[in-house]
Amino acid sequence: MTGITPQPGILDIELYVSGQSSIAGREDALKLSSNENPFGPSPKAVEALRRSAHELHRYPSTDHGALRAAIGEVHGLDPDRIVCGVGSDEIIHFLCQGYAGPGDEVVYTEHGFSMYRISALAAGATPVVAPERERAVDVDALLAACTARTKLVFIANPANPTGTMIGGDALARLADGVPEGAILVLDGAYAEFADGYDGGAALAEGRENVVMLRTFSKLYGLGGMRVGWGYGPRAIVDVLTRIRGPFNLSGPALAAAEAAVRDRAFVAKCLAENARMRAWLAEALAARGVPSDPSSANFVLARFADAKEAEACDAWLKEAGIIVRRVGGYGLPHCLRITVGDESACRRVAHAIGQFREARG
Ligand code: PMP
Repeated sequence: MTGITPQPGILDIELYVSGQSSIAGREDALKLSSNENPFGPSPKAVEALRRSAHELHRYPSTDHGALRAAIGEVHGLDPDRIVCGVGSDEIIHFLCQGYAGPGDEVVYTEHGFSMYRISALAAGATPVVAPERERAVDVDALLAACTARTKLVFIANPANPTGTMIGGDALARLADGVPEGAILVLDGAYAEFADGYDGGAALAEGRENVVMLRTFSKLYGLGGMRVGWGYGPRAIVDVLTRIRGPFNLSGPALAAAEAAVRDRAFVAKCLAENARMRAWLAEALAARGVPSDPSSANFVLARFADAKEAEACDAWLKEAGIIVRRVGGYGLPHCLRITVGDESACRRVAHAIGQFREARG
């Protein structure tokens, strides 16, 4: 015994298991498990990344000024109210570090993204889980779970892994209803895929207690670069900026993200293809007896009769060289989350699921 022990709560953190990335011996494996952009990043982002190689000996920007300016321009937001992180994961971490400690509560929904729990526990705070209704965020249940100790309320809209979303009125009711002194965090990792949704930008613009999170990992195809950002009241952004330290983002990551956010033609193409193939995939699965909730994201949550059938289908798909995501850890053991790929990927996974269903009679 060394007497060296971590802070309370740390050993309650379950190790994160990410989407499987390959199948041994399968060169043709199709990865539909991490909601990545099937078209990869914008070629302009790749070019910016190449150019940044000449500057690898230099420390990167400390203030992320060029990236914040580009995001501000594209989204019509004040760059001084933006904070950038190593993925939106890191901003979730900063929020918990900055605002929640021992004795404080961090509220999120039943099937909520796993980083909310990890970051709450890492900060020494107590995670509190609110039930959902029909696999969607339930505002009343979330508000009922809040107490005077609540410091942060996280929802993803659209949600992961369900793909469901709540509308503007429900969001405003949530912002109005969270306790005094608590921050509502609208995680918009999948916001762009929801037609006509601003990710919570207007709410974050006008309220003192709302922070919006966004990422370059999904629509922008830059999961490997690890860039996310948050938008909120100046006072909160100031706190997060103090915590983030001087050099959290690398030069190549900043350069790639800036080029990516400016390439609106590429974004428009990816969004159009996602909408088209998402509808196609949901319909193709339904025609094969596998229902899903209407998805506003870049994945579909396929529902099976029970956990056993979902497990069997997962194994069948692996045999066919297709990797999807089991979501038992999110309390949905009877479901498989399938990223919307390009047309050939969607056809391949729908075909394999059809064969699975036929084989089972
Ligand atoms: N929020 C949600 C809801 C997510 O699904 C993810 C990625 N799985 C993230 C945040 C974090 O994304 P990143 O750290 O890559 O920006």
